[in-house]
Amino acid sequence: MSCKFDVIVVGCGIAGLSAAVSAAEANASVAILERATVDERGGNTRWTEAFMRMKNENEVADDFEDHFMANAGFNLDPSLVAETAQPYRDWSAIVKALSFADPELVATLAREAGPTLAWLKTAGIRFSDMASYLITQSTTRICPVGGGLALIDALADQAEQLGVTFFYETTLEDLLLEAGTVAGIRANSKTERGLELRGRVVLACGGFEGNAEMQSLYYGEKARYIRPVARGGYYNRGEGIRVALAAGAAPCGDFSEYHAEPIDPRSGQSEPIVFAFPYGILVDAHGKRFVDEASYTVDAIYENIARLINKLPGGIAYLICDSQLDKVPNWQRTVRSDQKPITADSVEELANKLAMPSDALAATVDEFNAATVEGQFKPLELDGLATRGLTPPKSNWGLPLNSPPFRAWPVISANCFTFGGLRCNTNAQVLDHDGRPIPSLYAAGETMGLYYGRYTGATSVLRGAVYGRIAGQHAAQPKPS
Ligand SMILES: Cc1cc2nc3c(=O)[nH]c(=O)nc-3n(C[C@H](O)[C@H](O)[C@H](O)COP(=O)(O)OP(=O)(O)OC[C@H]3O[C@@H](n4cnc5c(N)ncnc54)[C@H](O)[C@@H]3O)c2cc1C
Repeated sequence: MSCKFDVIVVGCGIAGLSAAVSAAEANASVAILERATVDERGGNTRWTEAFMRMKNENEVADDFEDHFMANAGFNLDPSLVAETAQPYRDWSAIVKALSFADPELVATLAREAGPTLAWLKTAGIRFSDMASYLITQSTTRICPVGGGLALIDALADQAEQLGVTFFYETTLEDLLLEAGTVAGIRANSKTERGLELRGRVVLACGGFEGNAEMQSLYYGEKARYIRPVARGGYYNRGEGIRVALAAGAAPCGDFSEYHAEPIDPRSGQSEPIVFAFPYGILVDAHGKRFVDEASYTVDAIYENIARLINKLPGGIAYLICDSQLDKVPNWQRTVRSDQKPITADSVEELANKLAMPSDALAATVDEFNAATVEGQFKPLELDGLATRGLTPPKSNWGLPLNSPPFRAWPVISANCFTFGGLRCNTNAQVLDHDGRPIPSLYAAGETMGLYYGRYTGATSVLRGAVYGRIAGQHAAQPKPS
């Protein structure tokens, strides 16, 4: 079967639905493909609380662009970076195609965040600064009431009302290329292989966190221990990125890294994070500490800690706390595992239950306790209650672990989403290796690469909404520039 639409959107998460709705609002005929069933549509977006790095509904957080620019790439050539001070049209081809956090893309994301939230409100979405699992924070965040699922349901309803055609359980397999232009896509559904849909294409089908082979290719050994942080990630198998790269798209975003979250491996819940580590110690499977558990607020350090955990023997660490954890108001919000902690009345007993050398863990706890100092414990602010003479130090919340019962959670590093994707311009057009738009090809959300180094937290849903909406608007034009 072959069908013709103005715009074909691949993926039914925040990026794809934003693209489909905005294209349909511009009177384009729109098709949207989704690999999952209607009940599981929405990929990662379905499972997220969708925090957004905003001060309020109109303005991004004060550190928004600075954080991106501090993580724009590694060892960037300053002569190339200097070119970005010129108007975009004057950038050389190598800068237009450069793999880095393009300041034009970041500025557009920041500028369009407020208007995009206002647009989402027209679909019935409401925002709040609801209580979060981040009981200490370094920035400001808001989120949609009902989280990502509310975004999916509201936008899908709107897309249906606007006459968008949905193809569920239908998977993008390849792009149709004709005379250097993208003419559409080829897909497989439950009932038909080789289904052809013709039209301009918006790739919004996530990253490759659900593809073990691609993760091994890009990450090497560290891929072994990671898994998607929630069920939606398993649907994102990287086809959008793979077919576009094969068609000559330039890559962008750090292909060697992912947004890492520390989770309890025993839990099958969505995002079973273990964020209580600033109030205890983290040890490896040999009972040794390996990191400052409280160098800053938890939101600023959890990703790096999760990456370090991935490199430990077996890719696993253990959070050890004692009963003083109960001095932390609402600490329960910081652990979303449905599995109970392993408890014991002594450190040795706890080590035995963790199949860890008990003398090693006892020595670690003794050494840690000896390095703690008297001082005021203020659990909800950086209290500077630091250890003395300990390597690695613990910089805040350094109470001794001497108050049984002891409790422990195993922690692994999960892949929230992948960083590597496609190089795009501010119209969300996919660029080739010469920085020129590939005609009729767009990308948004995780499929668009943007992140390097430390993830600028609470910006991935925003990226999907902002660039999905832009992609839909641009692709809907009768003759996109
Ligand atoms: C538990 C969790 C918590 C998170 N918390 C936050 C947060 O608070 N703030 C934030 O900004 N980000 C957060 N993130 C990240 C963020 O949710 C995602 O990066 C973002 O929602 C991705 O949107 P997307 O539209 O690009 O992809 P997705 O929402 O993953 O959608 C991609 C869609 O494409 C479909 N698909 C994939 N391959 C194909 C194919 N070949 N053919 C057809 N369809 C296909 C998938 O089924 C899926 O429906 C979180 C993620 C998770 C999982």
